[in-house]
Amino acid sequence: MARDYDVIVVGAGVAGLAAAVAAADEGASVLLVEGQKQIGGSSRLSGGHFYAAGTSVQEAAGVSGDSADAMFEHYMTLNQWLVDPAVVRRYCDLSAPTFEWLLGLGVRFPKEGVYVSGVGSTPRGHQPEGAGEEVVNVLDGHRCHRGVDAVLDARVTGLIVESDGRVAGIRIGDDTATAAAVILATGGFGANEEMIERFYPQAAGAGDWRWYIGAEGAQGDGIALGEAAGATIAGHDRGLLLVTPGFSRDLEVLLPGWLILVNVEGRRFANESAPYTVLGGLIQREGGRAFAIFDEAARREAKPNPFSQAYWVDEVLERQAEAGRIMRAETLDALARQMKVNARALTGTVSRYNTDAAAGDDTAFFKPGPLSSIVEPPFYGVEVRPAIVCWTGTGLRIDADTRVLGGDERPIAGLYAAGETVGNLHGDRYIGGGGSFGPCIVFGKVAGEAAAGFARALNE
Ligand SMILES: Cc1cc2nc3c(=O)[nH]c(=O)nc-3n(C[C@H](O)[C@H](O)[C@H](O)COP(=O)(O)OP(=O)(O)OC[C@H]3O[C@@H](n4cnc5c(N)ncnc54)[C@H](O)[C@@H]3O)c2cc1C
Repeated sequence: MARDYDVIVVGAGVAGLAAAVAAADEGASVLLVEGQKQIGGSSRLSGGHFYAAGTSVQEAAGVSGDSADAMFEHYMTLNQWLVDPAVVRRYCDLSAPTFEWLLGLGVRFPKEGVYVSGVGSTPRGHQPEGAGEEVVNVLDGHRCHRGVDAVLDARVTGLIVESDGRVAGIRIGDDTATAAAVILATGGFGANEEMIERFYPQAAGAGDWRWYIGAEGAQGDGIALGEAAGATIAGHDRGLLLVTPGFSRDLEVLLPGWLILVNVEGRRFANESAPYTVLGGLIQREGGRAFAIFDEAARREAKPNPFSQAYWVDEVLERQAEAGRIMRAETLDALARQMKVNARALTGTVSRYNTDAAAGDDTAFFKPGPLSSIVEPPFYGVEVRPAIVCWTGTGLRIDADTRVLGGDERPIAGLYAAGETVGNLHGDRYIGGGGSFGPCIVFGKVAGEAAAGFARALNE
């Protein structure tokens, strides 16, 4: 039977672009379909960091001996084994080879950009020159070079499913295109209110504090398209929420070390300098909200710096306190009453912290110094919530070859998925910076190769 293409890739972020390039390299005829007027999706907005173990750039940076085995053990342990081991294993095994492939295509990852991007001591984050946008552009250049057709502003609305269940093409309204295999790489669902409610209750719980930093096209279409073809969904309530004081829509990833966080009981519960990969989860355990406490001296000294321009800056804090969005009081007792926090506990917490700060040693949570005592009135308190949706983790269940799994646990013939559309890779804890972008490319490439192989077999 004549088909329009061997492989159709839906979505032109890094997962879809990697899939298109890889499928073309396997000799497949490929169509790339993008719903927006511009390619790139959230990938274009992304830092483009790539979490990988055992790369040549790590070696050049003096990080030797890292391996897929070590990465796998860390990934599984961090997530208490509550992730799909086969899929995680594949990511770990292919992180370095795929990273080297990307280097070979021309993406530059300087050795100075290798850093500890998550919880742990091994530097596995790799920062590219030109961030995610450059990675998108390099991959798209290779897509063009290989003669892969791309259609923009064409949102896929359905899949063609044969009577035997095989996926055989796509629909865009009344138009159709047929293929031996379809790869869903439509990204996450951060921009889709209904899917947030359905799949990501922690994010929904942040109420109107919630906002999404990714691209408009992240409507969860891959989930809907896959579900309609019989796919199963995995990864309920997973994603990455960053912490915000709620009075700005600018992105700041880290909290400054000069404040402390207390729960509604007035107690500290975390090292406030904990990586962003875990801090949101820690606040979630306290009911999804906490209060940042600091004093006038800290506010006065809070000057803009490369990491903080929007929230934790003297003038901003003053303005927000004037506007009543930050609470301010002459005593900790009065501040606690405003915040409806246990006053006795708050006073005791601050007193203990001040003793530690004077000694230069956080004996409770081991926050690295310098520690700032909270002594000079007025005192400030501001609610913070994990409310900035960075990426979403619910999605289609795939096997380690990116074949989408149906309700009967078998792959749906002709259907593949990669990138943020996939749901059985991430656990409750984000592995670290690069832990989404990296596997998007890893599994995008796997999907392109696997779909091309499927098409080849079907054509024989
Ligand atoms: C600001 C920001 C910074 C980030 N920084 C990092 C980082 O440094 N490291 C990291 O690991 N992660 C990071 N992330 C997350 C990471 O970038 C994303 O998870 C990843 O890029 C998603 O890639 P993707 O290809 O799956 O989806 P996308 O890049 O979102 O691409 C999906 C594409 O599919 C298109 N599409 C959707 N539906 C349809 C449809 N029905 N028909 C046709 N096309 C459709 C979309 O328009 C979009 O272009 C960041 C995210 C953001 C927003």
